[in-house]
Amino acid sequence: MNNNPYAWINESLATIYRANWYRSVQTIHSQPGATVVLSGQEVINFASNDYLGLAGDERLQVAAINAIQKFGTGSTGSRLLSGHREIHRELEQGIASTKQTEDALVFSSGYLANLGTIAAIVGKRDLILSDEYNHSSLKKGAILSGATVMEYPHNGTSLLEEKLQKHRQNYRRCLIITDSVFSMDGDLCPLPQLLDLAEEFSSMLLLDEAHATGVMGKTGAGCVEHFGCTGRELIQIGTLSKALGSLGGYVAGSLPLIDFLRNRAPSWIYTTALSPADTAAAMAAIKIVQAEPERRSQLWQNVNYLKQLITENLPNLKLLPTESPILCFQLPSASAALTTGKHLRTSGIFAPAIRPPTVNTSRIRISVMATHELAHLEKLVEVMNNNTPYVS
Ligand SMILES: *Cc1c(COP(=O)(O)O)cnc(C)c1O
Repeated sequence: MNNNPYAWINESLATIYRANWYRSVQTIHSQPGATVVLSGQEVINFASNDYLGLAGDERLQVAAINAIQKFGTGSTGSRLLSGHREIHRELEQGIASTKQTEDALVFSSGYLANLGTIAAIVGKRDLILSDEYNHSSLKKGAILSGATVMEYPHNGTSLLEEKLQKHRQNYRRCLIITDSVFSMDGDLCPLPQLLDLAEEFSSMLLLDEAHATGVMGKTGAGCVEHFGCTGRELIQIGTLSKALGSLGGYVAGSLPLIDFLRNRAPSWIYTTALSPADTAAAMAAIKIVQAEPERRSQLWQNVNYLKQLITENLPNLKLLPTESPILCFQLPSASAALTTGKHLRTSGIFAPAIRPPTVNTSRIRISVMATHELAHLEKLVEVMNNNTPYVS
């Protein structure tokens, strides 16, 4: 055996490259915001999850600096050992009060919240039913749990019902998992129907509100509020890293659920507590989300204005169905998406091409922010209108 055991890595990379699936990082040299400096060029930013423009807000920065001065940079241990501070508890109470749940628990990221929660609440004797478009963290959490995992077609409630009818009785517990705002498409899950099905088949429902928190619902509490389902029993997951402009994840739900997770979620127990700076910044963001609903109104005004501009000026553009600030322009191939992405980029617009394996069909993904100016939205449509072979 004289084969280099690592030689496959270069071969795999070559395959990825040939398929136009190769990815690399791009450097931003400025504060986050509606415009950023990307590799030396100022561009309009449609690539960020900072929906309300809070990641660059001075109040979050001051809160983070104050927390560092009071508690240091690191939290020095896991929550159950030396990592717990009063600001963690304040943040959890702030999340629970926004969501109107009994309690909440913060994790080091949304990804870890999903992994740890799913792995804690179901196991080998249980069934997970998962929307085929779910975020990677839900899918990986399902695998990690050891439960039997069945995917149902995207938002296909009748096929989900069929699966429940056929399989539910063969398992101890059953968990339905879904994004609320689908992160790569921008459409919403049919939450009321899912809650009804969960109830009918004695199943738990875990809802990932990563792109909905701060964005959807009258007070920004997410899709649960948007659909008028506040107070119904379910497990809500989310992130502090998108509209809340910080870093971290959370689970919100009943007192026993949160108490159980504190005892059983491996990605909470065996990892270092959220840093003081991230914790304090997220808390400041939650207060702003509650106190300044005009940010959310501005975001939705921008979304509606951009949709109107697209309808009027880009009639041939295929826009995927969306009910969120995520708008996707469908393109025929990965290379078409890359070409369009590059064209946008040279025209001063930062909007990522999203390709397989992240999604089935290639697209340009636009995230609208509350802090975009009308001129930013108009420029996007103008640039899409010019020169793109796939549009006009
Ligand atoms: C971004 C995202 C996550 C992960 O959250 P992080 O805090 O960034 O780890 C989980 N689920 C969905 C649907 C997301 O979009």
